[in-house]
Formats: sequence, C-alpha cells, structure tokens
Amino acid sequence: MLKKEHKNKSIKHVQGNRGKACKKKTLRTKMHQDPLYGEIPILEYRYSDSSGKEYKGEYYDPNFTPKIPYSAVKGDITKQLYCPGYHIPKYYYVDEERSCVQCGHTFVFSGKEQKFWYETLQFNFNSRAIRCINCRKKKRSQKAMGKQLAITHDAYKNNTDDPLLMLELAKTICQAVEFEIGGDLEFAVALARKAFRNSANLIESLFWEGMALRLMGRQSKSELSFNKFLLLAEDCRRLCHLCTKAKQFIDPYPGV
Ligand SMILES: [Zn+2]
Repeated sequence: MLKKEHKNKSIKHVQGNRGKACKKKTLRTKMHQDPLYGEIPILEYRYSDSSGKEYKGEYYDPNFTPKIPYSAVKGDITKQLYCPGYHIPKYYYVDEERSCVQCGHTFVFSGKEQKFWYETLQFNFNSRAIRCINCRKKKRSQKAMGKQLAITHDAYKNNTDDPLLMLELAKTICQAVEFEIGGDLEFAVALARKAFRNSANLIESLFWEGMALRLMGRQSKSELSFNKFLLLAEDCRRLCHLCTKAKQFIDPYPGV
C-alpha cells in the first residue's frame, strides 16, 4: 500500500519534544498510491499524554489537491464525515457504475449524487447506493405504505364497528399487497363486504372487494364485484377514477 517513505527533518524535532504533555505534531512521511486519486501524502502525527507516553497516528492529507478529471465533481472535505485514519477523503467524485441488489439492473451512482450523500446528508463513507433510483423510490413507498397499514389497522382495532374504517382497512390491505408488502386479502374481502352491509352508501366497498379478489387471482368473482360497483357508481362523480380502473380490470383490452 505504501510506496515511498520520506525521511523528514521535523521527525527529529518532534522526537526531541518527547515527554511534553499532549504535544501534537503533524509530519509528512509517506505516500499512498490510490487508483482514483494517484499518490496521496500520508501525514503522521505524534502526541504524548500527561505521563509522557508517546503515540503515533497516520491520516491522509486533507489539503492534498489532485488534478480533477473533466467529468468529476469537486469534493469539499470539510463537509465530509469520515474516520481520518481509515478512510481516504473524497477529493473529488466520479460516476460509478453499479448493479442494483434488488432488480439486478446496472445503474450509475453519479458524482453529483455522491456529493449530496457524503456532504449534504453527511452519510458515513461506508454507505453506498446499492439500489437503482426506481428501487429506492419503491423501498421508500413500501416503508410509507407499511406505516400506513399499521396505523389503519390500529384505528380499526379501536373501533371495529365503524364501516368507514372497515373500508379504509380493506383498501389499505389491497394497496399494501400491490406494493409487495403483503396483507391478508381474505380479511380485506370480509371487511369490504361488512362495510357495504353496514353502510350501503359506501359503494367503493364493492370496488375494493373486487380488487382484493383480483389480487387473490379470483378473476371471475372480482369481475362480479367490479360490475356491481360500476352499476351503482356510474353516476357518482366522486368515484369516476375507480370506475375507470374497474372497467380496465374487467376488459382485458381497454380502449379496443
Ligand atoms: Zn433496481
């Protein structure tokens, strides 16, 4: 790892100071050959504690200014949080090609994005983008949806007679399944049916019943629910977006 060692006059100077409490000196001693930044000077510091015991440490020169490639983004070391004795400061950032752990597609962890991660968000240097942007968005949505499901579940548990909460939970379970979080679809069907039995004006219960059945793979039964829903909801403006969806689910060739 280390290629050169420079003897430095000031080493003697520091060694001469041995014994002085907490005396800290910085010395340039070695170079580190890095595949990205080239030769980085390694600085050495020595200090002694109150008992006179001397310690030695090394760190990468924070003032090193390598030649920045045209496409790279300049780093600001003062904004980066890292362990100086262990990590190489990010003098500049270059686009990195990576493979997404979730979908396997290749994506670019751009220099600009890295600067945002390590300087604005001040992420630890060990954190790296392992998912493509789409999978990251999906993961964030899944997290939000998981939270939403838990909240709705709790609200329903505290008031199991409220048809609105039955409907809301049936809907949230369907959405959670669509977000690949999972959910009890049989329970969603039961909730939607109960909501409609308890309050006939909650027409959208029929839509969510159909949706839960569809997600369970019960196509013909789901179409029955969607048809019932369309019959009642056709004149209701509030439900027109659900009507459009229901029609798409019934007709495998929408628009033809
Ligand atoms: Zn991905």
